Amino acid sequence: MDNNKKQSLLRKLPGVDNLLELIKKDVRFKQIPQNVYKSKIRYTLENIRANILNEDKIEVSAKKILATILEHAKKDIKNNLTGVINATGVVLHTNLGRSLLCKEALKNITSISSGYSNLEYNIQKGTRGIRYSAVEELICELTGAEAAIAVNNNAGAVLLSLNSLAENKEVIVSRGELVEIGGSFRIPDVMTKSNAILKEVGTTNRTHAKDYTKAISDNTGLFLKVHTSNYQIEGFTSNVPVADLVTIGKKYDIPVMEDLGSGMLIDFSKYGLGSEPTIIDTVKSGADVISFSGDKLLGGPQAGIILGKKNIIDIIKSNPLTRALRIDKLTLAALEATLRLYRDDIDVIKKIPTLRMLTEPYANIKRRASAILKKLEPVLPKNVEIKLADLFSRPGGGAFPSLKLPSCCITIQSKKISAAELEKKLRNNDTPIIGRIEDNCFVIDPRTIQKDEEKIVCETLIKILN
Ligand SMILES: *Cc1c(COP(=O)(O)O)cnc(C)c1O
Repeated sequence: MDNNKKQSLLRKLPGVDNLLELIKKDVRFKQIPQNVYKSKIRYTLENIRANILNEDKIEVSAKKILATILEHAKKDIKNNLTGVINATGVVLHTNLGRSLLCKEALKNITSISSGYSNLEYNIQKGTRGIRYSAVEELICELTGAEAAIAVNNNAGAVLLSLNSLAENKEVIVSRGELVEIGGSFRIPDVMTKSNAILKEVGTTNRTHAKDYTKAISDNTGLFLKVHTSNYQIEGFTSNVPVADLVTIGKKYDIPVMEDLGSGMLIDFSKYGLGSEPTIIDTVKSGADVISFSGDKLLGGPQAGIILGKKNIIDIIKSNPLTRALRIDKLTLAALEATLRLYRDDIDVIKKIPTLRMLTEPYANIKRRASAILKKLEPVLPKNVEIKLADLFSRPGGGAFPSLKLPSCCITIQSKKISAAELEKKLRNNDTPIIGRIEDNCFVIDPRTIQKDEEKIVCETLIKILN
């Protein structure tokens, strides 16, 4: 394109005022804030000018330009934090937000946050109240603990507990339990940041009671056990049960803490999941302090729950760090509503999404998978092979690390588009759908797809595969 042609195209570009006039009359722009469409006008015109000079795209009609502005603006007004469909089969997927809240929690969040509340107000006395009292009694009732407090998350709970109980003192931990959780939570680092001194004992695979006893000094502040949430040491192994540590702790006057990580209030072995000790078991074994997450197996909001002996929890409550790690009112509202459901251990499975998904029977998932397949099969092109496959879901979120949950998945293979391309297209959908690739097949696992999402999954697959 010669220079004259370029100049003439540039002259033909509609001006900013002209486009503004058109936008004001255009209903498609009704929901778009002024600042957004103004900046998109500038941005789009600059792009087109550059394209003309580079002889790329040379579309200068006002209609086309408006469409481009609208497209950019629509992208810009979408929230950055957006819902996605989890078709991975990983129930507690940390990258996808871990636990879905139950309806009761959502309702309580709305009700507490849309008005004033007694967050820190004692209604009976008309005086200042305590934030944690909304959940403390409930946690004690459900676990048998003497006292409890809830903070921002379990990483915070561990930091706070170590700092409260073992600042400048030694904390004895087994080498088999120096855990790293994804997202840079590592026990040795948390120890350093809490000003406690890590004293490792035993070996990676075996630690004995005598290892702990031998390591005791005048400066020992705490025995710490950490749940190996995301790995398992198998073979020639041995570790000291918390009850045995409690016995040693009593003899030498050293408190015992267990970071349970996921922490569960119900016995999942009834549902064919692994048999790990519940929080109730750990309280019974006599641990002085226990911490766990709110949004892992509990199925509630992000939170860290600390419970245990009253004298120990009192020390933690009075640490100024507690204020920095305090739980906010939305979380507290969600946590209370979630915990209340645990008063009925049958009902709770149906009402808390995490528990429902973890315990959904294979037959049920197969029924859902078949229904999806039946909808898709007749409308997908011949070059697509879609089948049911017996594969596995994962609990995720540092719970039952080696447990595979039998699931009935849907596998998709297309001659026209690779599994990687299909994965990418679904991920970039308006409502992103996150699946997985196994043996060159794209796989979706109905276990983590919610009932009201099945329709979107079907419609999107039809759109992309056709
Ligand atoms: C997950 C986990 C944590 C961190 O809990 P968050 O609630 O994610 O902060 C700490 N310790 C263990 C053992 C865990 O499994």
